[in-house]
Amino acid sequence: MIIWTGASNIFVILTGENYLNLKMNIRIDPYAGFCPGVVRAIQIAEQELRKHKQLFCLGEIVHNQLEVERLEKLGLKTILYDDFRDLKDTRVLLRSHGEPPETYRIAKKNNVKLIDATCPVVLKLQKKVKRNTEEMKMRNGQLVIFGKKDHPEVKGLVGQTGNTAKIIGPDGNFKHLDPARPVRLFAQTTMQSDGYKSLREKLKKKMQEHLSGQPDFVAHHTICKQVEKRIPKLKEFASAFEVIIFVSGKNSSNGKYLYSICKNTNPDSYFISDREDLDIKWFKDKSKVGISGATSTPFWLLEDIAQAINEL
Ligand code: SF4
Repeated sequence: MIIWTGASNIFVILTGENYLNLKMNIRIDPYAGFCPGVVRAIQIAEQELRKHKQLFCLGEIVHNQLEVERLEKLGLKTILYDDFRDLKDTRVLLRSHGEPPETYRIAKKNNVKLIDATCPVVLKLQKKVKRNTEEMKMRNGQLVIFGKKDHPEVKGLVGQTGNTAKIIGPDGNFKHLDPARPVRLFAQTTMQSDGYKSLREKLKKKMQEHLSGQPDFVAHHTICKQVEKRIPKLKEFASAFEVIIFVSGKNSSNGKYLYSICKNTNPDSYFISDREDLDIKWFKDKSKVGISGATSTPFWLLEDIAQAINEL
């Protein structure tokens, strides 16, 4: 007998004639699934596809192959920047990461209508970065972004600075900054808070030492709250179950990071990408199973995994 408790995402599975002894709780992490910015972008894509049947998307809408394939079946076609430059008289979706001004210029020149699904949090950050760039220009300062240089959000932010921003990667190396000049520091919304805080303190200290006084240094905490609150919630979730199944695309850096948190909290944590990766041995003598995933893992996939464990 299988009981699905709906809103609380709990399967209570009572099997065969011994069902009084064999009971398994399977629970999906309520904080897992796409962040609101990605959910919004997908909703916008689906609305457009209901009206137009086909839509181009500049870059993958989300770093999850299964979700990309699902949307492709509805008519969403992912294109690269080189393809975008050659497109004319059509419609293109901009995903949640945001774009540099150059993308808007190309679209205008080629009569391409942009369906802009940039996350409102990223849009706000872009505006702030642009304003601070003006200020830094007047004061011979440096606009600094803590992020991954090849990440689309960072490219969008750098575009707001006319490509003048200095980037500090996850290793926190800031040797290329001039400690004598003013600094305005920002972070890519999906960076890890600990890394940002440590960089902020080290950089400030370096500037203080160099100037032997109060430096002109402002650090804007621009890491997304949705991303930040995930870590403590995930630790809590991982410690509440005997087995954790973590679902993510193999190439997702966010997936690898969140999985490491699960594994450190609960050694019986396993990384999978789809139901084929499940191993029945993991569930031997276990009755409480938690399922979580990266910010790029769709909730429907977590539900599918819950169903697959139930079938095992
Ligand atoms: S800012 Fe937050 S909600 Fe928006 S896309 Fe980034 S992670 Fe998602």
